[in-house]
Amino acid sequence: MAKVILKNVSKVYPNSVRAASNVNLEVRDKEFLVLVGPSGCGKSTILRMIAGLEDVSEGEIYIGERLVNEVPPKDRDIAMVFQNYALYPHMTVRQNLTFALRLHKHPPKVIEERVSKTAEILGIFDLLDRKPRALSGGQRQRAALGRAIVREPLVFLFDEPLSNLDAKFRVQMRTEIKKLHQRLQTTMLYVTHDQIEAMTMGERIAVIKEGRVQQLSTPALLYHQPVNKFVAGFIGSPPMNFFEGKIDCREGNLYFQGASFQIKVSRLHVNRLDSKEGKEVTLGIRPEDIYPVKSPDTSGGGAAKPLFNGAKLLNRMNLNTSSKEENIVRSKLELIEPMGAETFLSFSVGKESFNVRLESAQIAPEKLKVGENIDLIFNSERCHYFDPRSEEAIV
Ligand code: ADP
Repeated sequence: MAKVILKNVSKVYPNSVRAASNVNLEVRDKEFLVLVGPSGCGKSTILRMIAGLEDVSEGEIYIGERLVNEVPPKDRDIAMVFQNYALYPHMTVRQNLTFALRLHKHPPKVIEERVSKTAEILGIFDLLDRKPRALSGGQRQRAALGRAIVREPLVFLFDEPLSNLDAKFRVQMRTEIKKLHQRLQTTMLYVTHDQIEAMTMGERIAVIKEGRVQQLSTPALLYHQPVNKFVAGFIGSPPMNFFEGKIDCREGNLYFQGASFQIKVSRLHVNRLDSKEGKEVTLGIRPEDIYPVKSPDTSGGGAAKPLFNGAKLLNRMNLNTSSKEENIVRSKLELIEPMGAETFLSFSVGKESFNVRLESAQIAPEKLKVGENIDLIFNSERCHYFDPRSEEAIV
């Protein structure tokens, strides 16, 4: 069993920077947990305290059942993989792999077995006698992983191991590390500032801001039920759109009244927003929850028709014609970014701008023109609402 538990852990550096505040975290046995947050939020500090490379100012860290606050790094039974590989340049890959094992005086037979097993797992048999300078970035990264694997640690700690790699290779290594986790069935804690890396790799993700854990949950829950505006804006690309406004009540219906448009509050959210009547709220909506429809004036004045083949989506939204119109926001198309399978569109309404994300197959990009006004349906069922002061989620 190799859980990692942090209880009320804080770190204040000698220069008084408070890099971690009251962090409570449990990495479960065999779990792949990701710490994600913007640069400087304290992710590496947390990881380094677990590794024993930084003292803990307050709180307790357990690896397995053992309190490790006072245990030196080499005795913590962890292996760390860094961004800069940290391979010894004058040693071959084999020597790099075996260095720690020799230091710990493992018998040569055990060392040989572990090196073979690791080389097989990573497919690096041909590289064992090369020095790091004769390896590509990816091969070096594999050698660095190998050095961690041969030690058969209780816990792997990764500190942004892929940020030096080019985009294509990064995606490949992501998959490799995930496969490695499945194969080794070992507890892994992975630090990154890249939310896509976090979402694709983590079984659970802890989002960190200013040294504090904001939310710890599965990728799906983080995405669909963010606890605050920070998490909502950090996870997802392009990010969630935010609009300031207030809740109005007219004829028994609740509306979000923004600076330049209004949205009828979905019946799913009415209970939570009832008490907010007349109060300011922040509306959040993801780019994929806004759909373009043909402007009534260009479609002959009839009912709004989807510009894309989105009838199913509209049915799923369960909107009748009148409520559809109530959730239509006429907006100016500012930018088209074809991404292949998807197309990103930037719009403006009044002084506000926002992003829309569509599957390219659902639109006819040639029908879109920058500068034209397009009617967009905001899927009110998918709207999020936040308190503008505390930034905590209301819905
Ligand atoms: P992240 O890994 O999220 O980028 P870090 O843990 O490296 O963040 O840093 C968190 C905060 O602590 C930052 O403000 C950083 O400047 C500060 N910090 C990191 N290391 C030290 C150190 N050795 N001494 C003083 N301040 C530090």
